[in-house]
Amino acid sequence: MSQPASSRHRVVVVGGGFGGLSAVRALRRADVNVTLIDRVNHHLFQPLLYQMATGILSEGDIAPPLREILRRQRNVDVMLGEVTGVDVGAREVTVDTYGQRSVVGYDSLILAAGSRQSYFGHDEFAVDAPGMKSIDDALEARGRIFGAFEMAEVTSDPAAREAWLTFVVVGAGPTGVEMAGQIAELSRRSLHHNFRGIDPAQARVVLLDGLPRALGPFPKSLARRAVKDLTSKGVEIHLGVMVTGVDAEGIDTNADEPALHRIPARTKIWAAGVAAAPLGRIVAAATGAGADRAGRVQVQPDCTVAGHPEIFVVGDLMSLGKLPGVAEVAMQSARHAAATIRGRLGGDNTERPFRYRDLGTMATISRFRAIATAGPLRLSGFPGWLMWMFVHLMFLTGFKNRAAVLFNWLIAFIGHGRPQRAITSQQVFARLSLTADPTRAPAQPTPSATSHQQAS
Ligand SMILES: Cc1cc2nc3c(=O)[nH]c(=O)nc-3n(C[C@H](O)[C@H](O)[C@H](O)COP(=O)(O)OP(=O)(O)OC[C@H]3O[C@@H](n4cnc5c(N)ncnc54)[C@H](O)[C@@H]3O)c2cc1C
Repeated sequence: MSQPASSRHRVVVVGGGFGGLSAVRALRRADVNVTLIDRVNHHLFQPLLYQMATGILSEGDIAPPLREILRRQRNVDVMLGEVTGVDVGAREVTVDTYGQRSVVGYDSLILAAGSRQSYFGHDEFAVDAPGMKSIDDALEARGRIFGAFEMAEVTSDPAAREAWLTFVVVGAGPTGVEMAGQIAELSRRSLHHNFRGIDPAQARVVLLDGLPRALGPFPKSLARRAVKDLTSKGVEIHLGVMVTGVDAEGIDTNADEPALHRIPARTKIWAAGVAAAPLGRIVAAATGAGADRAGRVQVQPDCTVAGHPEIFVVGDLMSLGKLPGVAEVAMQSARHAAATIRGRLGGDNTERPFRYRDLGTMATISRFRAIATAGPLRLSGFPGWLMWMFVHLMFLTGFKNRAAVLFNWLIAFIGHGRPQRAITSQQVFARLSLTADPTRAPAQPTPSATSHQQAS
């Protein structure tokens, strides 16, 4: 028999990403009250952020509102706010909603706050090299990328123009590879005939990584194929090169080659590393659980925190074995946590370890080219791309989003267009309001930053 709503078991889920949303859905038939708390109002499909940044998709296509997704699930309440503290004794979390503080009690707590960009101790790089973790990041990158072509068009000094037409992506993992491939494709294909003073196809796209090989998570043969495809698209790849400095005009590296030591480049995108969301350290301190170097909370094999069977940590925030920070781990670990809670409510207190089923991984290089693994399958080129397209459409939340994404893909991949090319000053300059130093000069188009003479 179900409990009256007021005396039901309370499950608080922090984070409405891949993990949090999977946990909430897995509890839809459970006799519980769920509160889903997220600091943003949407569920973000991060794997397609780079397509937002390069004008293929809009934010609405890949970030449906959490309230809309869950409108039919009667046992869940969505709350907008950032969880800033956990009182494990009182079993309460503190939530900050745009400055307004509230306290929410729980019987079970699922923490799925994900990760953030890591600049390896150089957070100051973020000012001139936005990451690729949020809608803000992708919109800023879009503003910088398309804005750079505009600036090149009105800049007559050849060196300054070259710097506007140089795009550096840091990090040759899947995100960096996808980003570099798309910038190359839009410059060589989509912007064709759009400018009079410059040839966008002259854009230099540079991909850097400190490690000696690109696409670490992929088998070597597939990674080699991806590098070959990317190079044929015009991307310059330099591996084993560490970034030592980033400023508005360019990027410094430790490369011996003088031409790489300093790369004049107005647009830099950081896709190099991730660290756990700050909530990881807060929870580790509150519970006494360890945190790894990236700030992820160490958990027991069943995804609970030692000494706190009522607290689960899942997805990118969790440190368990060598599990990778991918969407499948987040979804499967979240479902495991939800199943444990359901089992306990039914009187089954067995501690079952979480077992991850690796379903494969994939990355696009450009239109019609991708690499993908699924079990023993190794795909590249067009077959890999078809698989990539199918899997991404399946994993997108909501029919409306799938239809919109498919439509935009047709425009971008079959046609030449980029349907989402509108840029605003807010996208480019808003980061200033997020930086500690308000006197910091903008890194992008300013009247003083470059000459505004019409190019000949
Ligand atoms: C650009 C990019 C491309 C990627 N591509 C792939 C891919 O192709 N395949 C793949 O498998 N994985 C990919 N990933 C990784 C994948 O997106 C993550 O592993 C996955 O999102 C982790 O899910 P999660 O639920 O742990 O965290 P997230 O999905 O990041 O969700 C965390 C949520 O918690 C919220 N939150 C954080 N802190 C708080 C707080 N204190 N209070 C309230 N809410 C909070 C955030 O707003 C967010 O909504 C990619 C990631 C990025 C950034």
